[in-house]
Amino acid sequence: DLLLATATADETENQEEGIRPHRLADYIGQKELKDVLEIAIAAAKARNEALDHLLLYGPPGLGKTTMSLILATEMGTNCKITAAPALERPRDIVGILVNLKPGDILFIDEIHRLTRMSEELLYPAMEDYRLDITIGKGQSARTRSIPLPQFTLVGATTRVGSLTSPLRDRFGLIQRLRFYEPEELSLIVQRTAQLLQTPMSEEGAIEIARRSRGTPRIANRLLRRVRDYAQVKKMGVINPDVAAEALEVFNVDPAGLDWTDRLVLSVMIEQFQGGPVGLEAVAAATGEDAQTIEEVYEPYLLQIGYLHRTPRGRVATDAARKHLGYWQE
Ligand code: ADP
Repeated sequence: DLLLATATADETENQEEGIRPHRLADYIGQKELKDVLEIAIAAAKARNEALDHLLLYGPPGLGKTTMSLILATEMGTNCKITAAPALERPRDIVGILVNLKPGDILFIDEIHRLTRMSEELLYPAMEDYRLDITIGKGQSARTRSIPLPQFTLVGATTRVGSLTSPLRDRFGLIQRLRFYEPEELSLIVQRTAQLLQTPMSEEGAIEIARRSRGTPRIANRLLRRVRDYAQVKKMGVINPDVAAEALEVFNVDPAGLDWTDRLVLSVMIEQFQGGPVGLEAVAAATGEDAQTIEEVYEPYLLQIGYLHRTPRGRVATDAARKHLGYWQE
C-alpha cells in the first residue's frame, strides 16, 4: 500500500504519455476534426507527400499535442515536439529544421509566441521547404538557401487571433478544437481507468466527466485524484458517491469549477457588482495572471454561460450567481 501511494504521489508528465491514444480511431470526440484529417491523411498518402501544414487552436488540454503525435503514427513518420519559447534564437529553429526527415511532423506549441526572426525563417520553410539564412553582416552579407525535406508543421495555440496573418495564411488546414461532451469525457475516463487498472463503474466515470470542464486533461487528472482517494480510503470500485466525495475533498464542485474559477466569479460579483469589469481589474483583484484567466479559466466559464463578454467588459451571469449561492429565487 505504501509503495503504491508513493508511486502515485510522484506523478510526472511521463504518466500522461502512457495514456495518450496513438491512433486516430482511439481519439475520442472532435468528429469534425477527425473527418477533415482522415481525408488529408488519405490524400497525402496517395500522393506520397507530406501532410499539409495544420494549425490547431483551442484551450489547453483538449488534445492538440495528442493529435499531432497521432498524425505522425498514421503517416508512418516521426513527430518532433517543441514550443515557441524554446525557439527564441533563430539558430534554435534552424537546428530543428535541418534535422527533419522527409514526412516528419514538427509540432510547435504556443506558436503565437514565436519571435519575428524565427517566424520569418518559417515562411520559406513552410512554403517551399527551403531555409534562407543570411551569412555575414552589412555589405558582405549573403543569403544562402538550404533545401529542406518535405515536412508538416503542426502549430498549436490558445489564441488564434494573436497569430500574424502571414503565418496564419501559410497553414493549409486551420482547425478549432472544441470542449468535449460529458459522454465523450466519460469514454476517455473509462479508457484511462482501464489503462491504470482502476476498477470503476460507468456511472462513476460519468460523475468525473461532468466535473471535468469539457477537457480530457482535467478528466484524467481528476480520475487520478479519485483513484488515490478510493485507494487510501479502501473504497474499492469507483462509483458516483466515491467520485463525488473525493472531488469535494479536492475542491472541485459539481459544475467542475475549481477554487480559482469560483474566486474569479465571486470577485466579479462582490467587488464589481457582477460587472461589466475589465480583465485587468479582475486579475488585480484575484491576484491571478490576466492571460491565465483569459486562456485557462474564461473559455469554460463562457461555454457554460457563467460569464459573458461585452464591449464594456466581463459580466457574471445569473447562472453564476445561482451556482455560487448569491441568488435565490
Ligand atoms: P493540448 O496539447 O491540447 O494541451 P494534450 O494533447 O496534451 O492537450 O491532451 C491532454 C491529455 O488528454 C493527453 O494526455 C491525452 O491522454 C488526453 N486526451 C486529449 N484528447 C483526447 C482524446 N480525444 N481522446 C482521448 N484522450 C485524449
